[in-house]
Amino acid sequence: MIEVNDMFYAKSSDAAIADAGEYGGAVTSILKFLLKEGIVDAVLAVEEGADLYDAVPILIEDPDKVVKSAGSIHFGTLNLAKVVEKYLDGAQDMKIAVTVKPCDAMTMVELIKRERVNPDNVIMIGLNCGGTMPPVKSREMMEKFYEFDPDSVVKEEIAKGKLIVETADGTEKEIPIDDLEDEGFGRRTNCRRCEINIPTMADLACGNWGVIGPLAGKATFIEVCSPKGAEVLEKAKEAGALDLEEPIEKGITIRKNIDNAMVKLADKWQDADWEDVKGREIFSALTEYLPDFSRCIKCYGCREACPICYCDDCCLEAHNGPDWLSKGEIPPSPMFHLERMIHMVESCTNCGQCEEVCPSEIPLAKIWHEVNAKVKDNFGYVKGTGENKPPMGFFPMDKMPL
Ligand code: FAD
Ligand code: SF4
Repeated sequence: MIEVNDMFYAKSSDAAIADAGEYGGAVTSILKFLLKEGIVDAVLAVEEGADLYDAVPILIEDPDKVVKSAGSIHFGTLNLAKVVEKYLDGAQDMKIAVTVKPCDAMTMVELIKRERVNPDNVIMIGLNCGGTMPPVKSREMMEKFYEFDPDSVVKEEIAKGKLIVETADGTEKEIPIDDLEDEGFGRRTNCRRCEINIPTMADLACGNWGVIGPLAGKATFIEVCSPKGAEVLEKAKEAGALDLEEPIEKGITIRKNIDNAMVKLADKWQDADWEDVKGREIFSALTEYLPDFSRCIKCYGCREACPICYCDDCCLEAHNGPDWLSKGEIPPSPMFHLERMIHMVESCTNCGQCEEVCPSEIPLAKIWHEVNAKVKDNFGYVKGTGENKPPMGFFPMDKMPL
């Protein structure tokens, strides 16, 4: 009987999926199984769009089409929890299985706590994540550092601290990720600061770290994270969708060590991005960001992209603004940002959607990540996990550090 915290090496028993999958194809096999058995109505995953740099969310209802979503898209910077909340009505009337990186999974948890997503209708198949790369900048990186035509690249992978890139004619080149990041390329800046690499808040956490021995590179490492995840994996195994093996003990240790090393690296980036002032108070942090906020052109892009900004009737709209402004005005900087902050920052998962769309290049993810870290310090609230509600949205006045 499979239980929470169990770990496995998993391999798809479907040859086409094993071949198309990033590692063992276990994720694709589980998704196909869930759809075929009618356990879910649809699968939400990601497929390659125009090219390798173009990650497109895809909703699949036909089990035979799931295979086209196999593989990992490291330029896939999208947040699938937002897709579920905004475009699938929070899975209120539809059972779905969705692939989630840690920031997607944490966002989903926050949206569940805020009653925007129905947890009974969602199965979260977690993907470990060491970071995503920005598509446009990465094309430039391919030319500048790898001397490859970006369109000739067919595969990329981060392994042993290097970004390994392969072109269609089989040429391979590897560069240490630190060297790329020192030059401002490599992973997105929010991903560098991210300290959650294994999405244990999902139902299953799937990755390649820790797969050693004869199955290295050919199996998926699965950690069971919830009773729902245990049930899904048990049923998929019984149905013969995938083969499971006990992991090698040393592999489990290696996985843990890599995760710890990544957390330390994230800590280093936090120190660098927040200029070694982790201890500073919220107000001094916000004061420092005032010049950034003043560049805002009020395009509302950050609000639209933010998965936690879901209100139909937003107080940042001119017709709907606070009484201290004349009707027809929108809040000036920095109030625009401070109001948005109050509404979303405790649930901010550093997914980076806001910063990515900002035409004024305001480092929004960096700012909100720092403020969210203060929420953790002051309220003990850890975003994206557990069952306790976001502290400010639910007003526990006795805990307000006034
Ligand atoms: P497959 O059967 O190939 O299925 C992969 C599934 O992921 C597909 O359903 C696909 O649509 C979906 N998917 C692809 N790209 C995305 C995306 N950007 N966002 C959401 N869903 C997506 N594992 C580690 O152990 N260490 C890492 O550092 C690590 N970094 C990763 C970074 C990214 C951006 C991604 C997407 C994955 C990463 N993984 C990492 C997980 C790993 O690459 C495999 O996805 C995992 O091992 C499952 O393998 P599989 O063969 O079973 O997956
Ligand atoms: Fe202002 Fe940038 Fe947000 Fe647009 S995306 S409203 S410019 S902060």
